[in-house]
Amino acid sequence: MTVRLERSGVDELLAALWRRGYTVVGPTVAGGAIVYDELRTTAELPVGWTDEQDGGHYRLVRRDDEALFGYAVGPHSWKRYQLPPQVRLWRARLGEDGSLTELEEPTPGPRHAFVGVRSCELHAMAILDRVRNGEARPFVVAVQCGQAGGTCFCVSMGTGPTAESGYDLAITEVLDDGHYFVAEAGSDEGAEVLAEIPSAPAGDGEDAAAARAHARAAEQMGRSMDTTDIHDLLLANLEHPRWDDVAERCLTCGNCTMVCPTCFCTTVEDVTDLTGATVERHERWDSCFTIDYSHMHGGSVRNSARSRYRQWMTHKLATWFDQFGTSGCVGCGRCITWCPVGIDITEEVTAIRADQ
Ligand code: SF4
Ligand code: SF4
Repeated sequence: MTVRLERSGVDELLAALWRRGYTVVGPTVAGGAIVYDELRTTAELPVGWTDEQDGGHYRLVRRDDEALFGYAVGPHSWKRYQLPPQVRLWRARLGEDGSLTELEEPTPGPRHAFVGVRSCELHAMAILDRVRNGEARPFVVAVQCGQAGGTCFCVSMGTGPTAESGYDLAITEVLDDGHYFVAEAGSDEGAEVLAEIPSAPAGDGEDAAAARAHARAAEQMGRSMDTTDIHDLLLANLEHPRWDDVAERCLTCGNCTMVCPTCFCTTVEDVTDLTGATVERHERWDSCFTIDYSHMHGGSVRNSARSRYRQWMTHKLATWFDQFGTSGCVGCGRCITWCPVGIDITEEVTAIRADQ
Protein backbone atom coordinates (compact mmCIF):
# COMPACT_ATOMS: atom_id res chain seq x y z
CA MET A 1 0.00 0.00 0.00
CA THR A 2 1.32 3.45 -0.85
CA VAL A 3 0.78 6.62 1.18
CA ARG A 4 1.16 10.31 0.45
CA LEU A 5 3.55 12.38 2.55
CA GLU A 6 4.04 16.11 2.52
CA ARG A 7 7.49 17.66 3.08
CA SER A 8 6.63 17.97 6.80
CA GLY A 9 6.09 14.20 6.78
CA VAL A 10 9.68 13.71 5.57
CA ASP A 11 10.83 15.87 8.51
CA GLU A 12 8.74 13.65 10.79
CA LEU A 13 10.38 10.60 9.22
CA LEU A 14 13.88 11.89 10.02
CA ALA A 15 12.81 12.67 13.60
CA ALA A 16 11.23 9.20 14.01
CA LEU A 17 14.46 7.52 12.90
CA TRP A 18 16.56 9.56 15.38
CA ARG A 19 14.05 8.68 18.15
CA ARG A 20 14.56 5.01 17.35
CA GLY A 21 18.27 5.37 18.02
CA TYR A 22 19.51 5.60 14.45
CA THR A 23 22.18 8.03 13.31
CA VAL A 24 20.50 9.40 10.20
CA VAL A 25 22.73 10.03 7.19
CA GLY A 26 21.66 11.48 3.87
CA PRO A 27 22.49 13.90 1.07
CA THR A 28 23.54 17.48 1.73
CA VAL A 29 25.53 20.17 -0.10
CA ALA A 30 29.17 20.69 0.90
CA GLY A 31 32.20 21.85 -1.06
CA GLY A 32 30.25 22.32 -4.29
CA ALA A 33 28.95 18.72 -4.37
CA ILE A 34 26.16 16.59 -2.94
CA VAL A 35 27.72 14.42 -0.24
CA TYR A 36 26.43 12.20 2.56
CA ASP A 37 26.43 13.47 6.14
CA GLU A 38 24.29 13.44 9.26
CA LEU A 39 20.82 14.93 8.77
CA ARG A 40 18.28 16.30 11.24
CA THR A 41 15.80 18.14 9.01
CA THR A 42 14.85 18.44 5.36
CA ALA A 43 16.37 21.95 5.34
CA GLU A 44 19.78 20.23 5.29
CA LEU A 45 18.92 18.30 2.08
CA PRO A 46 20.03 19.71 -1.32
CA VAL A 47 16.79 21.70 -1.62
CA GLY A 48 16.45 23.15 -5.13
CA TRP A 49 19.78 21.79 -6.40
CA THR A 50 20.59 19.35 -9.16
CA ASP A 51 23.85 18.00 -10.53
CA GLU A 52 25.11 18.37 -14.09
CA GLN A 53 27.36 15.42 -14.96
CA ASP A 54 29.45 14.29 -17.91
CA GLY A 55 32.86 12.69 -18.43
CA GLY A 56 35.24 14.57 -16.08
CA HIS A 57 32.52 17.13 -15.31
CA TYR A 58 30.36 17.78 -12.23
CA ARG A 59 28.60 21.01 -11.33
CA LEU A 60 25.71 21.85 -9.01
CA VAL A 61 23.08 23.99 -10.68
CA ARG A 62 19.89 25.54 -9.40
CA ARG A 63 16.59 23.89 -10.25
CA ASP A 64 13.44 25.88 -10.85
CA ASP A 65 11.64 24.05 -8.04
CA GLU A 66 12.23 23.10 -4.41
CA ALA A 67 12.98 19.40 -4.99
CA LEU A 68 14.60 17.66 -2.02
CA PHE A 69 16.07 14.79 -4.04
CA GLY A 70 16.35 16.32 -7.52
CA TYR A 71 19.89 15.14 -8.33
CA ALA A 72 21.52 11.82 -9.35
CA VAL A 73 24.50 10.67 -7.26
CA GLY A 74 27.55 12.57 -5.98
CA PRO A 75 31.15 11.61 -5.21
CA HIS A 76 30.22 9.92 -1.92
CA SER A 77 28.68 6.47 -1.80
CA TRP A 78 27.39 4.44 1.15
CA LYS A 79 30.68 2.54 0.96
CA ARG A 80 32.14 5.17 3.31
CA TYR A 81 29.89 3.73 6.07
CA GLN A 82 30.07 0.05 5.07
CA LEU A 83 33.85 0.17 4.60
CA PRO A 84 35.12 3.44 6.12
CA PRO A 85 38.11 5.12 4.40
CA GLN A 86 40.27 4.46 7.47
CA VAL A 87 39.65 2.38 10.58
CA ARG A 88 41.86 1.51 13.50
CA LEU A 89 41.96 -2.25 13.84
CA TRP A 90 44.15 -2.52 16.89
CA ARG A 91 46.14 -0.40 19.39
CA ALA A 92 48.70 -1.48 22.00
CA ARG A 93 51.32 -0.08 24.39
CA LEU A 94 54.83 -1.43 24.74
CA GLY A 95 55.77 -2.04 28.40
CA GLU A 96 59.24 -1.43 29.84
CA ASP A 97 59.71 -5.20 30.02
CA GLY A 98 58.97 -5.48 26.29
CA SER A 99 55.43 -6.81 26.75
CA LEU A 100 52.56 -5.51 24.59
CA THR A 101 49.25 -4.55 26.25
CA GLU A 102 46.25 -4.12 24.01
CA LEU A 103 44.72 -0.77 24.94
CA GLU A 104 41.14 -1.08 23.82
CA GLU A 105 38.80 -3.25 21.83
CA PRO A 106 37.28 -1.70 18.73
CA THR A 107 33.86 -0.32 19.69
CA PRO A 108 30.82 -1.02 17.51
CA GLY A 109 29.84 1.98 15.35
CA PRO A 110 26.43 3.70 15.41
CA ARG A 111 23.29 2.12 13.95
CA HIS A 112 22.77 4.02 10.74
CA ALA A 113 19.64 4.97 8.87
CA PHE A 114 20.53 5.85 5.28
CA VAL A 115 18.14 8.31 3.62
CA GLY A 116 18.12 8.90 -0.13
CA VAL A 117 19.56 5.57 -1.29
CA ARG A 118 19.16 5.11 -5.05
CA SER A 119 18.39 1.77 -6.67
CA CYS A 120 21.91 1.40 -8.12
CA GLU A 121 23.27 2.11 -4.62
CA LEU A 122 21.09 -0.60 -3.06
CA HIS A 123 22.64 -3.04 -5.53
CA ALA A 124 26.13 -1.72 -4.74
CA MET A 125 25.53 -2.10 -1.00
CA ALA A 126 24.42 -5.71 -1.49
CA ILE A 127 27.52 -6.42 -3.61
CA LEU A 128 29.86 -4.90 -1.02
CA ASP A 129 28.12 -6.81 1.78
CA ARG A 130 28.70 -10.05 -0.14
CA VAL A 131 32.37 -9.20 -0.71
CA ARG A 132 33.03 -8.09 2.88
CA ASN A 133 30.59 -10.39 4.72
CA GLY A 134 28.89 -7.30 6.12
CA GLU A 135 26.59 -7.89 9.09
CA ALA A 136 25.22 -4.65 10.57
CA ARG A 137 22.31 -3.79 8.32
CA PRO A 138 21.28 -0.12 8.26
CA PHE A 139 17.69 1.11 8.05
CA VAL A 140 17.31 2.11 4.40
CA VAL A 141 15.07 4.83 3.00
CA ALA A 142 15.33 4.47 -0.76
CA VAL A 143 14.49 7.41 -2.99
CA GLN A 144 13.27 6.48 -6.44
CA CYS A 145 15.03 8.39 -9.21
CA GLY A 146 12.83 10.91 -10.96
CA GLN A 147 15.60 12.02 -13.30
CA ALA A 148 18.82 10.35 -14.40
CA GLY A 149 22.28 11.90 -14.41
CA GLY A 150 24.40 12.48 -17.51
CA THR A 151 26.66 9.50 -16.77
CA CYS A 152 24.05 7.04 -15.40
CA PHE A 153 23.57 3.64 -17.07
CA CYS A 154 21.77 1.56 -14.43
CA VAL A 155 19.18 0.40 -16.99
CA SER A 156 21.99 -1.37 -18.91
CA MET A 157 23.22 -3.05 -15.72
CA GLY A 158 19.73 -4.12 -14.55
CA THR A 159 20.12 -2.17 -11.29
CA GLY A 160 17.60 0.64 -11.65
CA PRO A 161 16.29 3.24 -11.79
CA THR A 162 13.41 1.91 -9.64
CA ALA A 163 14.28 0.16 -6.36
CA GLU A 164 12.25 -3.03 -6.04
CA SER A 165 13.63 -4.60 -2.85
CA GLY A 166 16.31 -4.22 -0.20
CA TYR A 167 14.81 -1.15 1.48
CA ASP A 168 12.73 -0.47 4.58
CA LEU A 169 10.93 2.47 3.01
CA ALA A 170 10.89 3.73 -0.58
CA ILE A 171 9.75 7.21 -1.47
CA THR A 172 9.11 8.87 -4.79
CA GLU A 173 9.22 12.65 -5.01
CA VAL A 174 6.46 14.01 -7.24
CA LEU A 175 7.04 17.45 -8.75
CA ASP A 176 4.75 17.61 -11.80
CA ASP A 177 1.47 17.52 -9.86
CA GLY A 178 2.16 19.78 -6.88
CA HIS A 179 5.00 18.73 -4.58
CA TYR A 180 4.57 15.63 -2.42
CA PHE A 181 6.01 12.17 -1.79
CA VAL A 182 4.57 8.69 -2.41
CA ALA A 183 5.92 6.21 0.13
CA GLU A 184 5.72 2.46 0.65
CA ALA A 185 7.16 0.13 3.25
CA GLY A 186 9.50 -2.71 2.31
CA SER A 187 9.89 -4.27 5.78
CA ASP A 188 7.99 -4.64 9.04
CA GLU A 189 10.12 -1.94 10.67
CA GLY A 190 9.54 0.31 7.67
CA ALA A 191 5.77 -0.15 8.13
CA GLU A 192 6.09 0.68 11.86
CA VAL A 193 8.00 3.89 11.11
CA LEU A 194 5.50 4.87 8.42
CA ALA A 195 2.66 4.39 10.91
CA GLU A 196 4.34 6.91 13.26
CA ILE A 197 4.30 9.80 10.81
CA PRO A 198 1.40 11.81 9.34
CA SER A 199 0.33 10.45 5.95
CA ALA A 200 -2.76 9.77 3.85
CA PRO A 201 -3.49 6.78 1.58
CA ALA A 202 -2.25 7.56 -1.94
CA GLY A 203 -4.93 7.70 -4.63
CA ASP A 204 -4.70 6.45 -8.22
CA GLY A 205 -3.59 9.90 -9.40
CA GLU A 206 -0.73 10.01 -6.92
CA ASP A 207 0.43 6.48 -7.77
CA ALA A 208 0.28 7.37 -11.48
CA ALA A 209 2.40 10.50 -10.88
CA ALA A 210 5.01 8.36 -9.08
CA ALA A 211 5.03 5.84 -11.96
CA ARG A 212 5.57 8.70 -14.43
CA ALA A 213 8.62 9.85 -12.44
CA HIS A 214 10.11 6.30 -12.55
CA ALA A 215 9.52 6.02 -16.31
CA ARG A 216 11.08 9.44 -16.94
CA ALA A 217 14.31 8.43 -15.21
CA ALA A 218 14.51 5.18 -17.19
CA GLU A 219 14.21 7.12 -20.45
CA GLN A 220 16.86 9.68 -19.53
CA MET A 221 19.94 7.51 -19.03
CA GLY A 222 23.00 9.56 -20.00
CA ARG A 223 24.98 6.45 -20.99
CA SER A 224 24.35 2.84 -21.98
CA MET A 225 26.44 -0.30 -22.13
CA ASP A 226 25.84 -3.45 -24.18
CA THR A 227 26.58 -6.19 -21.62
CA THR A 228 25.93 -9.16 -23.93
CA ASP A 229 28.53 -11.87 -23.15
CA ILE A 230 30.66 -9.16 -21.55
CA HIS A 231 32.60 -11.62 -19.38
CA ASP A 232 33.83 -13.61 -22.39
CA LEU A 233 34.22 -10.50 -24.58
CA LEU A 234 36.70 -8.87 -22.22
CA LEU A 235 38.65 -11.99 -21.31
CA ALA A 236 39.03 -12.85 -25.01
CA ASN A 237 40.51 -9.39 -25.62
CA LEU A 238 43.24 -9.01 -23.03
CA GLU A 239 45.70 -7.99 -25.77
CA HIS A 240 43.32 -5.62 -27.57
CA PRO A 241 45.05 -2.37 -28.73
CA ARG A 242 42.35 -0.35 -26.92
CA TRP A 243 44.17 -1.02 -23.63
CA ASP A 244 47.15 0.93 -25.04
CA ASP A 245 44.82 3.71 -26.14
CA VAL A 246 43.26 4.09 -22.67
CA ALA A 247 46.71 3.87 -21.04
CA GLU A 248 47.73 6.98 -23.04
CA ARG A 249 44.96 8.90 -21.27
CA CYS A 250 44.83 7.28 -17.81
CA LEU A 251 46.72 9.15 -15.05
CA THR A 252 46.48 6.12 -12.68
CA CYS A 253 45.17 8.57 -10.09
CA GLY A 254 42.73 6.03 -8.62
CA ASN A 255 39.79 8.50 -8.49
CA CYS A 256 37.55 5.97 -10.23
CA THR A 257 38.17 3.41 -7.48
CA MET A 258 37.69 5.94 -4.65
CA VAL A 259 34.25 7.01 -5.90
CA CYS A 260 33.10 3.56 -7.02
CA PRO A 261 30.53 2.17 -4.56
CA THR A 262 31.79 -1.42 -4.95
CA CYS A 263 35.60 -1.05 -5.17
CA PHE A 264 36.97 -2.57 -1.98
CA CYS A 265 40.78 -2.64 -2.17
CA THR A 266 42.34 -1.79 1.18
CA THR A 267 45.80 -1.86 2.70
CA VAL A 268 46.94 -2.35 6.29
CA GLU A 269 49.48 -0.03 7.92
CA ASP A 270 51.22 -0.21 11.30
CA VAL A 271 52.18 3.13 12.85
CA THR A 272 53.86 4.08 16.13
CA ASP A 273 54.05 7.31 18.09
CA LEU A 274 57.36 9.20 18.19
CA THR A 275 58.61 7.28 21.24
CA GLY A 276 57.67 3.91 19.79
CA ALA A 277 55.68 3.14 22.96
CA THR A 278 52.27 2.95 21.27
CA VAL A 279 51.54 1.03 18.11
CA GLU A 280 48.39 1.12 15.98
CA ARG A 281 47.24 -0.94 13.02
CA HIS A 282 44.99 0.81 10.49
CA GLU A 283 43.05 -0.45 7.50
CA ARG A 284 42.56 2.22 4.83
CA TRP A 285 41.26 2.39 1.29
CA ASP A 286 43.78 1.55 -1.39
CA SER A 287 43.41 1.23 -5.15
CA CYS A 288 44.42 -1.26 -7.82
CA PHE A 289 45.76 1.83 -9.66
CA THR A 290 48.62 2.36 -7.18
CA ILE A 291 51.92 0.73 -8.07
CA ASP A 292 52.26 -0.59 -4.51
CA TYR A 293 48.97 -2.46 -4.57
CA SER A 294 50.34 -5.32 -6.62
CA HIS A 295 53.85 -5.17 -5.18
CA MET A 296 55.17 -8.61 -4.35
CA HIS A 297 58.69 -9.80 -3.77
CA GLY A 298 60.83 -8.26 -6.51
CA GLY A 299 58.42 -5.59 -7.75
CA SER A 300 54.92 -4.72 -8.90
CA VAL A 301 52.94 -7.24 -10.91
CA ARG A 302 51.04 -4.46 -12.69
CA ASN A 303 53.68 -1.85 -13.44
CA SER A 304 51.98 -0.04 -16.37
CA ALA A 305 48.83 2.06 -16.72
CA ARG A 306 47.70 -0.44 -19.37
CA SER A 307 47.87 -3.37 -16.99
CA ARG A 308 46.22 -1.47 -14.13
CA TYR A 309 43.28 -0.10 -16.14
CA ARG A 310 42.79 -3.52 -17.76
CA GLN A 311 42.82 -5.20 -14.33
CA TRP A 312 40.25 -2.73 -12.98
CA MET A 313 37.83 -2.94 -15.90
CA THR A 314 38.06 -6.69 -16.47
CA HIS A 315 37.59 -7.26 -12.73
CA LYS A 316 34.49 -5.03 -12.62
CA LEU A 317 32.83 -6.49 -15.69
CA ALA A 318 34.21 -10.03 -16.02
CA THR A 319 36.17 -11.75 -13.25
CA TRP A 320 33.90 -10.28 -10.53
CA PHE A 321 31.28 -12.73 -11.85
CA ASP A 322 33.74 -15.63 -11.29
CA GLN A 323 34.62 -14.40 -7.80
CA PHE A 324 31.28 -13.19 -6.44
CA GLY A 325 28.60 -14.33 -8.92
CA THR A 326 27.62 -10.80 -9.90
CA SER A 327 28.83 -7.80 -11.88
CA GLY A 328 31.11 -5.41 -9.97
CA CYS A 329 29.52 -2.45 -11.78
CA VAL A 330 26.04 -1.08 -11.04
CA GLY A 331 26.07 1.68 -13.66
CA CYS A 332 26.14 4.65 -11.26
CA GLY A 333 28.47 6.60 -13.57
CA ARG A 334 30.68 7.99 -10.79
CA CYS A 335 33.92 6.70 -12.34
CA ILE A 336 33.09 8.59 -15.56
CA THR A 337 32.15 11.84 -13.85
CA TRP A 338 35.08 11.91 -11.43
CA CYS A 339 37.80 10.76 -13.83
CA PRO A 340 39.89 13.92 -14.34
CA VAL A 341 40.38 13.06 -18.02
CA GLY A 342 36.87 11.75 -18.62
CA ILE A 343 37.68 8.10 -19.31
CA ASP A 344 34.35 6.37 -19.80
CA ILE A 345 33.93 2.67 -19.02
CA THR A 346 30.95 2.48 -21.41
CA GLU A 347 33.04 3.87 -24.29
CA GLU A 348 35.87 1.44 -23.56
CA VAL A 349 33.48 -1.54 -23.76
CA THR A 350 31.98 -0.18 -26.98
CA ALA A 351 35.44 0.23 -28.54
CA ILE A 352 36.44 -3.35 -27.74
CA ARG A 353 33.11 -4.73 -28.91
CA ALA A 354 33.30 -2.80 -32.19
CA ASP A 355 36.13 -5.03 -33.42
CA GLN A 356 34.38 -8.36 -32.85
S1 SF4 B 1 32.60 0.96 -12.23
FE1 SF4 B 1 31.94 3.11 -12.43
S2 SF4 B 1 29.79 3.03 -13.09
FE2 SF4 B 1 30.35 0.98 -12.34
S3 SF4 B 1 29.71 0.98 -10.16
FE3 SF4 B 1 31.89 1.63 -10.20
S4 SF4 B 1 31.82 3.88 -10.31
FE4 SF4 B 1 29.75 3.14 -10.82
S1 SF4 C 1 40.54 5.90 -15.35
FE1 SF4 C 1 40.53 8.09 -14.80
S2 SF4 C 1 40.00 8.16 -12.61
FE2 SF4 C 1 40.66 6.05 -13.08
S3 SF4 C 1 42.84 6.02 -12.62
FE3 SF4 C 1 42.68 6.50 -14.82
S4 SF4 C 1 42.67 8.77 -14.90
FE4 SF4 C 1 42.25 8.21 -12.74
